[in-house]
Amino acid sequence: MTSHEPWSPATLCVHAGHRASAAQRAVVAPLVHSTTFLLDDTAYSAMTQGRASEAWIYSRIRNPTLDVVQERIAALEGAERCVVFSSGMAAIHAALLATAQSGGSRVVAHREIYGSTWDLLAHLLAPLGIASEFVDLNDPRARGAALARGADVVYLESITNPSLDVPDLQVIATEAHAAGARVLVDATFATPLLQRPLDLGADLSIHSATKYLGGHSDLIGGCVSGQADLMARVFRWMQLAGGCLDPHAAFLLDRGLKTLPLRLECHQRNALELARRLAGHPRVERVLHPGLESHPAHERALRNLQGFGGMLSFVVRGGDEAALRAVRALRLALEASSLGGVETLVSLPCNTSHARMSAAERAAAGIPPGLVRVSVGIEDVADLAVDFERALTAA
Ligand SMILES: *Cc1c(COP(=O)(O)O)cnc(C)c1O
Repeated sequence: MTSHEPWSPATLCVHAGHRASAAQRAVVAPLVHSTTFLLDDTAYSAMTQGRASEAWIYSRIRNPTLDVVQERIAALEGAERCVVFSSGMAAIHAALLATAQSGGSRVVAHREIYGSTWDLLAHLLAPLGIASEFVDLNDPRARGAALARGADVVYLESITNPSLDVPDLQVIATEAHAAGARVLVDATFATPLLQRPLDLGADLSIHSATKYLGGHSDLIGGCVSGQADLMARVFRWMQLAGGCLDPHAAFLLDRGLKTLPLRLECHQRNALELARRLAGHPRVERVLHPGLESHPAHERALRNLQGFGGMLSFVVRGGDEAALRAVRALRLALEASSLGGVETLVSLPCNTSHARMSAAERAAAGIPPGLVRVSVGIEDVADLAVDFERALTAA
């Protein structure tokens, strides 16, 4: 693998992982659908020496189109290796099992994490002997007490969903390592452009590539990046549990990644402007966006991120029913879950990502009634502002 260190992220997004050359003349990386490849002496010796992941043998193990995006994301993350997966959840599952693999292991997770990750930890991994405790990792006493009870893995997100909190990753990672735990960060909301978790002490950086990395709401994928030894274990989970990315999805991801810096710049500009406009609306009780000085994590965001991201949440006066009425009155923004695409999407955590939680559990996770989450797209922000202001007034 060539070193990409002197290149800046915007250049890496366009070029890392594939370069046209005399040998490979295609400017755009070819989409290789083939499931299998001609065997030769190199492939046989790789297999007999236990290095199958290094040879092109079978596409669940290695595929040229997947190589392109894996090398590009590793370069963006400052990682030795990236492995892509069929979804963000497949990536999270593999990262957790690669680091908490023995029965009787303990995960200390931030109290506010993606709903399906919470569900995975609380309901599928717990019966297998991987116990999870959900704590406020921003609270030094709660954090210290949880680590003192023993931890193999500390799990958090760069920017949390939906209250857009920004944990102090460097501080948390230092304490977690002192307690003997590995640190896993889901950096989906931040992208590698706003935070490189490995630089701040994380052992593995995870993304749902479905979101900003793909960027067009047309692929499901995930990735895990880290140093080579730990990634060899993550790779084993991909290879044997079988959550490999489809080459066509990898091709779409290759295409999407090229414009990530441009898209993100626009998402961020629009999100901050819309957050300011919504904060002045009489039907809005509160706006949560890390770029607003009123946000409790504003200072932590300045320390931990290169920007404030494209997500915002707001609390509609009158609770979940009023919020749903407002969302239904929107004409431009679309009522759909997911995020990070070019189109503005709105959803309520209470009936989507956090529907499996009780109202009390949602409150404990920092989700008040009436909360609406917005993935701000790249439309003209003046049109978005008109849409939201009109819908709120009508509801
Ligand atoms: C969407 C999402 C996931 C899950 O990713 P999928 O690609 O849907 O499997 C995990 N974490 C975060 C923060 C997400 O937004």
